Amino acid sequence: MSTIWVLGSGQLGAMLKQAATPLGLDVRPIDIESNDILPLSPNDVVTAEREEWPLTKATEQLATHPNFVNLSTFPQLADRLTQKQWLDKLDLATAPWFSIEQDSNSKHCYQTLGERVLLKRRRGGYDGKGQFWLKESENTQIPEEWKGLAIAEQAINFDEEVSLVGVRGKNGASYFYPLTLNLHINGILYASIAPLERLTHLQSKAEAMLSKLMDALDYVGVMAMECFRLGDDLLINELAPRVHNSGHWTQAGASISQFENHIRAVAGLPLTKADVKNTSMMVNLIGVPVNYNWLSTEGLELYWYKKSVRSGRKVGHINMCSGDISKLSTALTELDAQLPEPYQEAIEWLKNNLPN
Ligand code: ATP
Ligand code: MG
Repeated sequence: MSTIWVLGSGQLGAMLKQAATPLGLDVRPIDIESNDILPLSPNDVVTAEREEWPLTKATEQLATHPNFVNLSTFPQLADRLTQKQWLDKLDLATAPWFSIEQDSNSKHCYQTLGERVLLKRRRGGYDGKGQFWLKESENTQIPEEWKGLAIAEQAINFDEEVSLVGVRGKNGASYFYPLTLNLHINGILYASIAPLERLTHLQSKAEAMLSKLMDALDYVGVMAMECFRLGDDLLINELAPRVHNSGHWTQAGASISQFENHIRAVAGLPLTKADVKNTSMMVNLIGVPVNYNWLSTEGLELYWYKKSVRSGRKVGHINMCSGDISKLSTALTELDAQLPEPYQEAIEWLKNNLPN
């Protein structure tokens, strides 16, 4: 069997490798800074855990392999400008936006998009980085260094944030997990919960939106669609052509995790609908040191990424899945006592969203 190379060696690559191990597949995440000569074979497959990368010795070897799945899709979705153009072209709803050019001015932003406008860097933004709020009440101006490199988006007063994670195979068949409800604090994902009965009426609408995109791109593998929910409407916030943080709960809560699904798809193996076991919750560990006392909570599954801990950095996550809601609630109470601020907000949010 051929090797599946992953461009990037962060936590997503590690979890892809972990998911492929029981299938007997050889998955090798590669550090983009590696100077090694990679023993690539013509029958190998290449995928990525990130949507953009610098030109290095490692990325050049991987990106010139003929079996790099979705190679042409990455640059189109990694740039927010071309991503938004794709959404508009396919008539998929997104926050009203336009491109920030050299001659753009904030007055035009306020007139066109309203009194609060979010500037987003076209490239490289993640976890709320690369964002800048323009506020008319404070007469905020577009920073000079953002001109030509950003888009402007209307501030959306959403009810909540949901995401859809789907997988599409080489034959075009697609499968989806139930919609996930997500909590972001300061632009960074803190917690997710799925599935929720109260979101099921939006499932087919969301699936149709992501299908349209994956089909148009002839995409193979896992893709995530982050949305704002406003009543019964969904506006696409952004797309990720890869496994996604809001799908981490599937490691505990589904018979096939998003990581296994991505590997199956790029390897050309059979795809089927994943069984969703019970209610799952995911808590991201952001800027907190590892605490193995967390493991004393029944049912808790810890993923620690072995990265150095820095403020605002994702260094691990916790999954829990159970059909016994009181068990989930107790686990949250135990976690509450062991995590710093702002986890109280995230834990309270999870408790409030647990099914009755
Ligand atoms: P990721 O880490 O998921 O790639 P990101 O930093 O690249 O995220 P976005 O997902 O675009 O950027 O934005 C992060 C968060 O900021 C969103 O989840 C949402 O909470 C908030 N946000 C983004 N766009 C808007 C908007 N137009 N109006 C209001 N809030 C927004
Ligand atoms: Mg996002």
